[in-house]
Amino acid sequence: RLYNEIIELKGNIRVFCRCRPLSSEEISKGYASVVEFDPSQDSELHVVCSDNSKKQFKFDHVFSPKDNQEIVFAETLPVVKSVLDGYNVCIFAYGQTGTGKTFTMEGTPENRGVNYRALEELFRSSIERSSMIRYEFLVSMLEVYNEKIRDLLTENSDQPAKRLEVRQLPDGSQDVPGLVEAQACNIDEVWEILKTGGRNRSVGSTNANELSSRSHCLVRLTVMGENLIDKQRSRSHMWLVDLAGSERVGKTEVEGERLKESQFINKSLSALGDVISALASKNPHIPYRNSKLTHLLQSSLGGDCKTLMFTQISPSSADLGETLCSLNFASRVR
Ligand code: ADP
Ligand code: MG
Repeated sequence: RLYNEIIELKGNIRVFCRCRPLSSEEISKGYASVVEFDPSQDSELHVVCSDNSKKQFKFDHVFSPKDNQEIVFAETLPVVKSVLDGYNVCIFAYGQTGTGKTFTMEGTPENRGVNYRALEELFRSSIERSSMIRYEFLVSMLEVYNEKIRDLLTENSDQPAKRLEVRQLPDGSQDVPGLVEAQACNIDEVWEILKTGGRNRSVGSTNANELSSRSHCLVRLTVMGENLIDKQRSRSHMWLVDLAGSERVGKTEVEGERLKESQFINKSLSALGDVISALASKNPHIPYRNSKLTHLLQSSLGGDCKTLMFTQISPSSADLGETLCSLNFASRVR
């Protein structure tokens, strides 16, 4: 209860900003940080523009390069917990390639990210509540690339992954028929499932990193709860989304396959921005159907669903233009 009260006070859409540290390569090239943080508060930052003027941006929370995975997760936890109370949840990482989207969501084995910590916490809480509610967890993992949905958990990774479509169910909610839902009883099983999905992600691509920056990767956790006292059942989803890189492609690269990819990415990211800003401004028409991404997430965006977006940025002077674009995108959805 407590967690939901906290969220309700703050609204259903929350926008965070996370700035990664300058890399050693950036430092050796002489790039400086153009992002300033105020240690006395954690809801705004300033960007020093090329004419030395400063632009202020406000968020529900700002994480500076000093904030580690644990601090980030502590702020994310209330949203994560609400899935156990039957709310649908979407957590996104948005930003230019190389700003830490994957670091925030997946993390590394030494520095686990939101995905792992969220699932770990859900298993822990479900055990705590097990005398009252019996929970069951199913994990799906899929990728949206060029407006096509691929299942990343098909059993045989030698075969090309299955193509999937979004369908509307009679009750008005959306589903993806045929999507693999792997049952997971503990965090180690989830970890294995996510590893399988990660391996399938790179099938057919010469450079896994390259491809991952041009597709959206979505983990869907389905939580089924049965109240042991009144026998009421609940079913909710938590989507954990590592979005494609938001950067505009350079003029010289814009041809053939790469042009098509970047058009699909632009289209889906702006569709996502349109949906979240329509929800934030309580617009009665929410344009879910404009992209596969928003259509997939339709039942988990809006209504009393909880949405959290991490706007990932680089501190480097070399990335100033993209940083301003991402911050402006985030201001639009707040
Ligand atoms: P993206 O997924 O947005 O392309 P990555 O998550 O791959 O970016 O991050 C790019 C690099 O920066 C990686 O080497 C990652 O480990 C590092 N990195 C990102 N964010 C942080 C952070 N907050 N602290 C330390 N290293 C980070
Ligand atoms: Mg990434």
